[in-house]
Amino acid sequence: MRLARLMYNSVANDRCDHREVAKILETSQQLNAASNITGILYYSNRYFLQYLEGNLSDVKATYLRITRDPRHSGLSLVDESLIDDRKFAGWAMAYIPTSDSITPAISEFQTQAEFNPKAMSADNTVKFIMALQTQLPKAHYPIANNEEQPE
Ligand code: FAD
Repeated sequence: MRLARLMYNSVANDRCDHREVAKILETSQQLNAASNITGILYYSNRYFLQYLEGNLSDVKATYLRITRDPRHSGLSLVDESLIDDRKFAGWAMAYIPTSDSITPAISEFQTQAEFNPKAMSADNTVKFIMALQTQLPKAHYPIANNEEQPE
């Protein structure tokens, strides 16, 4: 199996409100659990930033479905690469709501006050995602195929 990560950003379409984001998260967690995809979704200032990790072909198939979703547009692929281990093991799709605790990370990795992943370099996007990861509780359930175990 080839373990891969994929990061992209996009812009929520006008009709995509917080209830719709909650639905997206629910669907993501169900489908990702079934194909052992893990990762994190961050939504703020009408932008989505998502990090997916898992078997390369599953990550690609998931991203293809995501690109066809009318609830967002302007997708920019930030990074797609092979990795040695997961950063979000145990999280079928973690979600970090906008909060003041994220503000320092935003201002560390971009110059604008408002979150704008399109203004972040690829390197800074990875660093921002890893800063979000530190805000999560420890992984809370084992992943399906034991390829690695959460801490
Ligand atoms: P179906 O459920 O068969 O739907 C058919 C089409 O309608 C698809 O294009 C679908 O995107 C679209 N659609 C579905 N629900 C709605 C709705 N309420 N309003 C408008 N259009 C709709 N899916 C994952 O599996 N994993 C993820 O990590 C993931 N992350 C996402 C992140 C974002 C920012 C967004 C916008 C979507 C995400 N999704 C994710 C959802 C994904 O786009 C698909 O909707 C989902 O995977 C089901 O795909 P499907 O082809 O079976 O669609």
